[in-house]
Amino acid sequence: MEQTLKTAPPISEVWEKRPLIISGPCSAETEEQVLQTATRLAKTGKVHALRAGIWKPRTRPGSFEGIGTKGLPWLQQAKKLTGLPLAVEVATGKQVEDALHFDIDILWVGARTTVNPFSVQEVADALRGANVPVLIKNPINPDLELWIGAVERVSKAGIKNIGLIHRGFSSYGNTEYRNAPMWHLAIEMKRRNPGMMIINDPSHICGRRDILMDVAQKAIDLDFDGLMIESHIDPDNAWSDAKQQVTPERLAEMLNEIVWRKEDINSEAYHQALEKLRQQINHLDDELLQLLGQRMKIADKIGEFKKNNSITILQTNRWNEILERAYQKGDKLGLTREFITKYFDAVHMESINHQNRIMNS
Ligand code: PEP
Ligand code: MN
Repeated sequence: MEQTLKTAPPISEVWEKRPLIISGPCSAETEEQVLQTATRLAKTGKVHALRAGIWKPRTRPGSFEGIGTKGLPWLQQAKKLTGLPLAVEVATGKQVEDALHFDIDILWVGARTTVNPFSVQEVADALRGANVPVLIKNPINPDLELWIGAVERVSKAGIKNIGLIHRGFSSYGNTEYRNAPMWHLAIEMKRRNPGMMIINDPSHICGRRDILMDVAQKAIDLDFDGLMIESHIDPDNAWSDAKQQVTPERLAEMLNEIVWRKEDINSEAYHQALEKLRQQINHLDDELLQLLGQRMKIADKIGEFKKNNSITILQTNRWNEILERAYQKGDKLGLTREFITKYFDAVHMESINHQNRIMNS
């Protein structure tokens, strides 16, 4: 069959796409699978880069650990056929060399690599002098410093275009998600790296395809710059991560269903209305802080009282009573149990710290 060849757009242009959409199989398995996935993804017209795992860091030995370097020419071929630039995960210096040798356009550091500063440094050293964008996934454990450390190592190697991928954090016994999103950590990472692109990887957060949409939508609502979603021509028979992959056509449907939002609009009326509401929020926050200050002053008095009577700070019954009251009131006010628990935990700890200071002064 006669096939026309396509040229991929310059990677600097692709890097600027918003929302940036990267998709492709968890793993490159066969040449046929790579080419078919790429062709079907390109046909959707909604994907900016093709991803495929070549070297797979698997939790348990005996699983498919990736096709290795021999899969890189398949990707090159896919790029020629579709014009889609390529993204590949790298975890060692040798993998960086091989990927660059085969003209991979975007490299990403996987979650199992970001946890290990030795590995990240090895990758960074191999990147020195290369002009390739690098995406850095969050480490599997919820540790922002490791994530930031990886960004710093890659940046010090002279890489200019660095982006982040939020793929969730592993936690023992979590049932709903394969990796808990812990959105607050991604939000904090965004705050600490203003201007740095951050995309979301719903596939590795969810671990199952039925809830991908919810997570993808949430990421867009939180102003993420794009999505990396795994796709496969025959998801159920994928050699890795079978449960979370979707067909290229299903991916296109999902991207159609997502409500895309922007951070800001230029309308004066919108800004005025928003400003009014924000002032109300500031006002209420000020009042809450005042009240919390007063609450702690009373805690100090209780601390004095407990000290004078030699009784313990923690009174478990009283703590249960506080929580129970709060759950009931919170319920009527539309506040979730999860929020009430977190909020009262924090308030209670602050109160204990205050009493502790008094007791030991
Ligand atoms: C992957 O993208 O296929 C992968 C291995 O992801 P992570 O590093 O997030 O586990
Ligand atoms: Mn995967």
